[in-house]
Amino acid sequence: MALVATGIGLKGFRITPENIRIGGKVPKGYYRRQFQEAWDPPVERCDHCGQPGDLYPAAYGAADALLHPGCRDAWVAAQDDLSIPPYLDRRGAVA
Ligand SMILES: [Zn+2]
Repeated sequence: MALVATGIGLKGFRITPENIRIGGKVPKGYYRRQFQEAWDPPVERCDHCGQPGDLYPAAYGAADALLHPGCRDAWVAAQDDLSIPPYLDRRGAVA
């Protein structure tokens, strides 16, 4: 299926007209497949790994996220990753 039209303001969607062969003519126009990504609802992605899938809401302190069950512990650990000044970092020091 093809739609032959131009100048309908699709730059924001990064949809640009293509050459559409109709019989012996080749006008500029659009194919259905060009609109599919813009029509489809956005895919939700895990706030930890960035992949889609079965996601569940999680909260830790003031932070909240949508996560895979297997990403929850790593996400919580990342929330606990406190940054401290080097002069206070005693990791590796002999006890
Ligand atoms: Zn994940």
